[in-house]
Amino acid sequence: MESLVVNPSVNVSPYCYSLLRIEPYTSCMHQCIYCFGRWYRMADPATLAPTPNMIQSLVRIFKAIHKRGLTPMPFRLSTLIDPFQPIELEKGASKHVIKLCIKYNIPLIINTKAPNIAINILPLLEKLCNRGLLIFQVSVSVISGELAKKLEPKAPPPQERLDAAEKMSKEGIPVILRLQPLIPGLMEHDLELTIQQAKYIGAKQIITEALRDEIENFNIYSTLAKDSQKYKEIGFWEDYSATVETPSKVLRPKLEWRISTYKQLRDLCSKYGLAFSMCKEGLYELQTAKNCCGINLLNPASYTLRPTLYEAWIIYKQTKTIPSYKQLVETLPPNYIHSQNLKPYPRTIRKKLQAHEKILKQILEERTQELIKLLPR
Ligand code: SF4
Repeated sequence: MESLVVNPSVNVSPYCYSLLRIEPYTSCMHQCIYCFGRWYRMADPATLAPTPNMIQSLVRIFKAIHKRGLTPMPFRLSTLIDPFQPIELEKGASKHVIKLCIKYNIPLIINTKAPNIAINILPLLEKLCNRGLLIFQVSVSVISGELAKKLEPKAPPPQERLDAAEKMSKEGIPVILRLQPLIPGLMEHDLELTIQQAKYIGAKQIITEALRDEIENFNIYSTLAKDSQKYKEIGFWEDYSATVETPSKVLRPKLEWRISTYKQLRDLCSKYGLAFSMCKEGLYELQTAKNCCGINLLNPASYTLRPTLYEAWIIYKQTKTIPSYKQLVETLPPNYIHSQNLKPYPRTIRKKLQAHEKILKQILEERTQELIKLLPR
């Protein structure tokens, strides 16, 4: 929780642009049963508190970025906890972060299940948004309130999230709906209704990510699912990754199911005029959004990007050859940070960004498995 950079791994490093994270609280009281953040958080929800020293670390980093005249990659608020849990009303740690982003011109991607709490600081959000420094992502796994109560017992009901997100988008804030996790047997029948709702609230993009969980949790999904058979067929699942750090027995639905569900979502998004992307998947043929996180909705002068497999895929589309890392970085526009350009960035973030870069480089140089996901489906 103390690190401002997501840990490098083969599941993250090849794909992700938003590696800089801010976790303002030590845990999450929403208690979603599928939460992967629970594997990484040290604190029990019962001892929930603002993350010690987080604001001081941020001030140090933001000051250094500002003083050195650097353009940052966008920061994410948050990745392992919800930044707008009820404790925010009392402690205001996320509010403090947003004020710092305004002060130092830092682009921010907010991701929450509680936009109804975030709306209390609408004037601050608007201030950030007016400078093109804000993307507001609202997360929903299912739109049925009854089902959501079982999956996300302490989070606000989906309708409340959508209503608050609609208010945000009416104020001109770029809202993205994160449809995640895609849980087999629980959401397939509601896909069109969900995309219609996203359109209705003024969302600009859908980002989706499939379930990943330990087999021990499957009983709960199986009880709730319309088609529970999927949880009994081991062949329906695959390892999340041989290299995932903790825990080691994480499964996700097989690639065939993911592709078929993503295709349905992509087609529905096209029907309703929304951009579509998948989180940490590759499969770029299926992506219609300009950027998987929606970073293109920010002021173009406010952020830098890092190279990912997406840029390699652009080259592949044109040349039918997957580039080496050297060929890849030679084609990048100046708003990308990599190799020597990373040097002026504060050490705390530079070291880990370099480790992420090393993994991407290895994938391209050693032609590992991940490259398969660049090829057409
Ligand atoms: S809101 Fe997010 S971080 Fe909090 S428990 Fe749910 S999935 Fe985990």
